[in-house]
Amino acid sequence: MDELYRLTIHQACQLLRQGSLSSAELTSACFKRIEQVDNKIHACVTICPDIALEQAREADRLIRSGENLDPLTGIPALIKDNISTKGIKTTCSSKMLQNFVPPYDATVIRHLKARNVVILGKTNMDEFAMGSSTENSAFFPTRNPWDLSRVPGGSSGGSAAAIAADEAVYALGSDTGGSIRQPAGFCNVVGLKPTYGRVSRFGLVAFASSLDQIGPITKNVTDCALVLNAIAGSDPNDSTTAPYPTPDYTRALIPEIKNLRLGVPREYFVEGMQQEVRTALEIAIRKLEELGAKVDTDVSLPHTRYALAVYYIIAPSEASANLARYDGVKYGYSYQETDNMWEAMEKTKQNGFGPEVKRRIMLGTYALSAGYYDAYYLKAQKVRTLIKNEFDQVFQKYDALITPTSPTVPFKLGERIDDPLQMYLSDVCTLPVNIAGLPAISIPAGFAHSLPVGMQIIGKPFGEETILRIAFTYEQATEWHKRKPEI
Ligand code: GLN
Repeated sequence: MDELYRLTIHQACQLLRQGSLSSAELTSACFKRIEQVDNKIHACVTICPDIALEQAREADRLIRSGENLDPLTGIPALIKDNISTKGIKTTCSSKMLQNFVPPYDATVIRHLKARNVVILGKTNMDEFAMGSSTENSAFFPTRNPWDLSRVPGGSSGGSAAAIAADEAVYALGSDTGGSIRQPAGFCNVVGLKPTYGRVSRFGLVAFASSLDQIGPITKNVTDCALVLNAIAGSDPNDSTTAPYPTPDYTRALIPEIKNLRLGVPREYFVEGMQQEVRTALEIAIRKLEELGAKVDTDVSLPHTRYALAVYYIIAPSEASANLARYDGVKYGYSYQETDNMWEAMEKTKQNGFGPEVKRRIMLGTYALSAGYYDAYYLKAQKVRTLIKNEFDQVFQKYDALITPTSPTVPFKLGERIDDPLQMYLSDVCTLPVNIAGLPAISIPAGFAHSLPVGMQIIGKPFGEETILRIAFTYEQATEWHKRKPEI
């Protein structure tokens, strides 16, 4: 097979076990692919061939000896650059951390290493995960493999674009308000945001701690379940992880959704939604119906309209607290041309952070300041509870909710960068899920203007198995996920 880089996890795993493929070959094929296409896509910020090939040879040794046969063993991955990797730069695509090499691994990386996966490198993102287009990277924007003049979405745009372009077999992203699902939808790949507390955040550079989750970005739903199996679970290093055992998510991969009750909340078909995206979604929903699901299109979640406002109070507030640590004292960029401590801190932040990060810090600092706290932060938290309660109520009647992942297809580079509000609007369908801490997956569900359209499936808390099953059933009955961009 000359197109080794096209393999999915479960295909590669089979070949590795049969002995007809080695991890070293697969790893080299991915690096070759990166060399061929990444000068156009710009998905990677760091690649580490030496470390990766060493990991691959070690995986090959284990596979030959029949030991440690996890499905991920020997399979090459790319990691979003806000997930700490010991000995490998973790920059958050920020000047602030441009030269930062973490002294420890994030818990998810420890889980992957325990399975002897191969880490090819780190992917580009919006600086500190703030953005929806990957244009906020301090280094360079990433391009959508389906149309190089368009954005891949964000903030995990590097991870999603890399998987769409077959630069790695799978990737990890992080999702605070949509950063896994929106780019997955824009790039025609699968992206899952787990329930808050399902996956450890230890070693994930914090953006908004009550919203952040790490999750898989993969070529299909089966791979998504395999990666979730590896990274999910409680963690003594993250007290917000849930103390529940991790099920085997591959057991949810049954092509059977007869009698599952699916709700389609009308508030997600927002004003400004592109007609072609709406049509693609309607066809996808009819498909679910044909497959036996009971679909109710008359569902309402009226508080959805406040989600964007709530998010843009809570996320910047938490960000302003989390980013206070970048003062140039212990690590990261540090302004040295002064003896004055205050000036040094000021200049460190001034030079180290890009415009969007500064905007968020200012918004958050304002919302938390004395006299404004009650009017903004506290109020937002109360509305957050209303949004959560509303989901709880609806989930008494439905097993899952179906929505678009984004109201539009990928937009052009530069189109929204000067209009933050326009940019924030690209997350209207994904943010409510983080506010309520729910799991949701985006899967390929059609094309509009020859560009990918994602369908979002939202589940109950810890209902990952149900959404995987719906996603799997839909995927088995459609061909969208098999379409590949010409690069
Ligand atoms: N686009 C949203 C934001 O800019 C969400 C980002 C994310 O999920 N990390 O905050």
